[in-house]
Amino acid sequence: MSDENFPGAASRFASVGFSEIVQVRNRVLALLAQGHRVWRFEGGEPYMPTPDPIKAAMSRALARNETRYAPSSGVPELRKAILAKVRSRNAIPADDESPIVVNGGMHGLFAAFATLLDPQDEVLMLSPYWTPIVDVIRYHGAAPVLVPAEEAGGDGLTAALGKRLSKKTKLLYWNSPTNPTGQVFDRAQVEEVSAFVRENGLGLISDEAYEDLIYEGEGHVSPASFPGLSERTISVFTLSKTYSMTGWRAGYVLVPKRWRAAMQTAVLYSINGVSTPTQWAMLEALSMPPDFLEEAKAGYRRRRDALVAGLRGAGFELETPRAALYLFPKIPPALGGDSAAAATALLDARRIATVPGIVFGPEGEGHLRFSFSVAEETIEGGVAALGAAAPARA
Ligand code: PLP
Repeated sequence: MSDENFPGAASRFASVGFSEIVQVRNRVLALLAQGHRVWRFEGGEPYMPTPDPIKAAMSRALARNETRYAPSSGVPELRKAILAKVRSRNAIPADDESPIVVNGGMHGLFAAFATLLDPQDEVLMLSPYWTPIVDVIRYHGAAPVLVPAEEAGGDGLTAALGKRLSKKTKLLYWNSPTNPTGQVFDRAQVEEVSAFVRENGLGLISDEAYEDLIYEGEGHVSPASFPGLSERTISVFTLSKTYSMTGWRAGYVLVPKRWRAAMQTAVLYSINGVSTPTQWAMLEALSMPPDFLEEAKAGYRRRRDALVAGLRGAGFELETPRAALYLFPKIPPALGGDSAAAATALLDARRIATVPGIVFGPEGEGHLRFSFSVAEETIEGGVAALGAAAPARA
């Protein structure tokens, strides 16, 4: 039968990409299947396994037969623990019904954009950005409006955002600490962006995936902690990075009252709630002593510093980021300015897997993303494979 006899996929997908990071991963998997050794820096996961108490809590929940439908917004005990955490650690004045448990940050973000976006709406966001965000915005028929992070740096935030404001602007997407640059916005900057959102009558989607992975200096500041902001912000959190739970698909959002029914509907009809035993494991994670991460963070710091030194030695230009899991260096001249070509050259000639900066937006061009959250042997081997001098174009 010819293709005309089949309905096509929905037209909304025509403008939506499929994560290019996944495409890099697929090329790496093909090389591995052919028996090649690959130094893998393309990922974005904690380097250590999920802590044992969290796994044990899942087993206990299964033994208790906690295997039935739970309320679609989450198990009440877990929602209570989330409230306690966001009130004390994030200083967010969340009301009792605001937490909704979701299938990780990606799902929380998707449901948040679904809750707020109409076709033609515009969303302000800094660039470089985490790749899926522009696609999720376009999926809803809306338009991402990119604000170069460099222009918004220092005291330029309000001016850079204001210049791109239009009658169609509905939302700001905010991500600090930032993937891919590891930038952390300080309290004054978060306060400034919060004032901008409030004064311009916008909504805010705040992606706080890396809130706990800050290695030195001032800690994380949640925009919803500023006056009047919790009423206009969907704060999106995930357990993926803090608790090494990337595969569990576990996260939560805080949703203000005026958008809550819509968001609950989005969650009900997309997943009808997170798996019940997973929610009990999430409760255990949130109950862990706040200092449990200190050892892991020492490991992250060591890896970050080793890779920064190795990359500098190989001719890459970069500053040491304060947070998250990534380095985002400038590509040395010998490799050329085209990040896709440079990533291909490194993979083909040196078996080093990275993500080309262009997939994080036009402002990412000229850079490569390396994850430092890898085995220390990978850092040693990858740096040795880079050689003392920058590799030549393949
Ligand atoms: N937000 C940012 C900035 C991320 O980098 C990620 C994952 O890499 C997420 C959200 C979502 O993570 P998950 O869906 O695993 O919770």
